[in-house]
Parts: sequence; C-alpha cells; structure tokens
Amino acid sequence: MSRILLIGPPGAGKGTQAKTISRELGIPHISTGDIFRRMYSKRHPLGVEAREKYWGPEAGGKLVPDDITIPLVKERLSYEDCKKGFILDGFPRTVQQAISLEKFASLDKVIYLTISDEKTIQRIIIRKQCNKCENIYGSYNFPKDNKCCGKELYRRDDDDPETIGGRLKEYGDKTELLIKYYLDLGKLRTIEGDDYPERVFENIFKLISLPDHYAL
Ligand code: AMP
Repeated sequence: MSRILLIGPPGAGKGTQAKTISRELGIPHISTGDIFRRMYSKRHPLGVEAREKYWGPEAGGKLVPDDITIPLVKERLSYEDCKKGFILDGFPRTVQQAISLEKFASLDKVIYLTISDEKTIQRIIIRKQCNKCENIYGSYNFPKDNKCCGKELYRRDDDDPETIGGRLKEYGDKTELLIKYYLDLGKLRTIEGDDYPERVFENIFKLISLPDHYAL
C-alpha cells in the first residue's frame, strides 16, 4: 500500500513529482490546490468563495479554512481509486489538518521536498500549467510553442509575485510545524528538491520502494 504525502514549499516540485509517482504507481494524485482551481473553473460556489477570500490574487494566498478543505479531502479519499493508495499534495498543510486526516486515513510515507526560498520564487515566477491535463512546465521542460494538449499554457493567478510572499509566509508559519510533527512521529523522509525532476523522482522512487524501517 502506498499512501504518500508530499510536503514542501510552493515551487518545490510537489505537483510535478506527484504526477510522476501517480503514473508510475497507478495511484491517484490528490492535490487540494488543483481541487480548488478546478472548482473555481467550473464556477462551483465553494470554489468561487475560496478563490475570492483565500487563494486568489486579491486574497494574497491565504489558507482556505478547514471546514471547507477537510470535507473535500475526506470525500475524495473515500473514492474507490484510493483503495490501493494515493499521493497527497498540498494536504495536510497544518498540524490541525494532519490530526484530522488521521481520523479517516493513515499515511505510509511523508516525503519532504526541500528547496531554498530563492529557488522557490524563481520557479514560481516562470512556471505555467496546462489547463487540460494539468501538466506543469518550468525552465527544464518549457514547450517552445507555449502549448500543451493543443492549448496555450496558462499561469496560475496565485503564482504572481504579490501572492507568492503571502503563500511563503503561510508556509513558514504553518506548514513548517507540520514537518516537525511528522519528524517526531518518525514518518518524515527528506529529499533535495533542487535538482532535475528525473533525478528527484529516482530518489523518491528508491525511498518509496524501501520498507519503512529502512527508509530513514
Ligand atoms: P497549491 O496548489 O497547493 O499551492 O494550493 C493553492 C492554494 O489553495 C493555496 O495557496 C491555498 O489557498 C489553497 N489550499 C491548497 N491546499 C490547502 C490546504 N490543505 N488547506 C488550506 N488551503 C489550501
């Protein structure tokens, strides 16, 4: 069973790595950020509210409250495709969310992707995403025609320089405590994220292939 959580600052490569792990292991990639963006693009009332008040450019990259976020994750994890595992990206982001998660799902591996603040900002400023397949593009794989699935790539509107500061602050204030939480539980494994995505994936793959007690 592979129930994996990826933690790391915005731009650490969680989305890119989660997509590869999902493909290689045949388990779903569950990203709360993608869920919120999809809900917004379909104009779901909760998605519109979350963007306006919390994650959108006007709101400055704040965390969406737990009474919205946690039920969405709980429901998604109850789907049939999560029975043989899943990869969580962006949830839990706080210790409170981690404690809530334990009530409805447990994790086998928590992988912490490290990267400097400077690199984080550089990556976020240039990255773009495909609206259809949600593939993420950065300096290492940017298509010359700026297209994927036949469509122009778009820049996430919370990836603008104004919002990045707020997101990094939220990360520093809340998510770093989560790292200590999983470290204390003996579940945290650290991987250097500032490398070619293929090499980062190789390291992650080695780690998730090892039995738990070898992986420290
Ligand atoms: P991400 O794509 O993970 O960077 O998430 C984009 C935005 O969605 C974040 O800046 C938050 O506003 C919101 N978000 C994503 N995951 C969570 C979470 N676990 N708790 C609260 N807000 C979240």
